[in-house]
Amino acid sequence: MVTRPMAPPIYPAAVYRCENPTQAARLLNREDAGYVYSRDAHPNGDFLAAMCRDAHRLPEGIICGSGMAAESALILGLLQAGDHLVASNLLYGQTTNLLRNELPRLGITSTELDPCDLDAVEAAFAKTDHIERRGLLVETVSNPMLRVIDIARLAEIAHRHGAWLAVDNTFASPGICRPGALGADYVLESLTKIINGHSDVLLGFVGGPKEPVERIRRTAITWGFTPAPFDCWLAARGMGTLDLRLDRACANAMTIARWLQHDPRVAVTSYPGLPEHHDHQLAARQFLDGRFGHMLSVTITGGWDAATRFIEAARRIPFSPSLGDLQTTLSHPASTSHRKLPQAERMRYGIDDGTIRFSIGVERVEEIRAAIEEGLTALTVG
Ligand SMILES: *Cc1c(COP(=O)(O)O)cnc(C)c1O
Repeated sequence: MVTRPMAPPIYPAAVYRCENPTQAARLLNREDAGYVYSRDAHPNGDFLAAMCRDAHRLPEGIICGSGMAAESALILGLLQAGDHLVASNLLYGQTTNLLRNELPRLGITSTELDPCDLDAVEAAFAKTDHIERRGLLVETVSNPMLRVIDIARLAEIAHRHGAWLAVDNTFASPGICRPGALGADYVLESLTKIINGHSDVLLGFVGGPKEPVERIRRTAITWGFTPAPFDCWLAARGMGTLDLRLDRACANAMTIARWLQHDPRVAVTSYPGLPEHHDHQLAARQFLDGRFGHMLSVTITGGWDAATRFIEAARRIPFSPSLGDLQTTLSHPASTSHRKLPQAERMRYGIDDGTIRFSIGVERVEEIRAAIEEGLTALTVG
């Protein structure tokens, strides 16, 4: 009797053998289940897509080669020249770059607005200028100040105006928020971050209703946005421990936030789990299992120089402008993700030169606290 492996196999094959012309045609037309060419589909991609789709309780989902490939597949799959997108002004930098510098060349334009200002969103859709406002694109939690958006109300506004709502849920993951359950039509995620969780893969996910996601799948295949098998295998392994890692990382973030909040060397602590956070009530309603995420931002007084002293002294916390690793990492928005924003605009979003963003990991919380303390000590004695 043949035994089956506990770990899923990895299928590196770029192409598969067909038995005969009829089978080849049926497989290529997707009339039969099976694989022919791995840009179209492969077992590791399908396995991971099913995990992500089920985690979000969505009817269909596809994996793309990166989070940005997922954003591109969604927009290029659903929109055409002449269409207009209403988008958050707090999106991931490359998403904003896509909207501002790539899509206009294809005739797809967008409006950027504050997604926390529901009147502004309503006004953008209510305009009567014969422009087709087809969709609304927002993020569950903004970077780096961690504003939380009201998915249910944004969905209501978009739907009333005949548009869809797509939510980039990367900072939350399905362990903290399922935008589909709150009314969003499409969910996007960079699996590169907390979902894979080990900083060794770039991948993305798009989920939603069956028919439009099939259209997005065809777009992804044609433009070449599809993923590599080994990356999918790694991310599926990451998915297996997502819930455990979130339990630990979110509890750590809550403890660290409560501690930093009372430290005189820290001017502002931004964490949706703190009752003082602007969107705490909304986060408590929208987020699952009493978790508030692994992301936490602080602003220390003394601007760029103070941030530099902190980062150089906090040697045990890598300055690594991404998120979601097992280890606690930090980033400095003013020199990385938000470096191109004029300072006045940055300040408007509360992003100071002294703002430091932490991605809290799964270490013992005392270790994280000690590592942050090393940075803070440099502020008082430096
Ligand atoms: C990282 C990130 C992306 C892009 O994902 P990649 O996998 O790096 O292409 C998109 N949105 C958000 C919110 C992200 O953090």
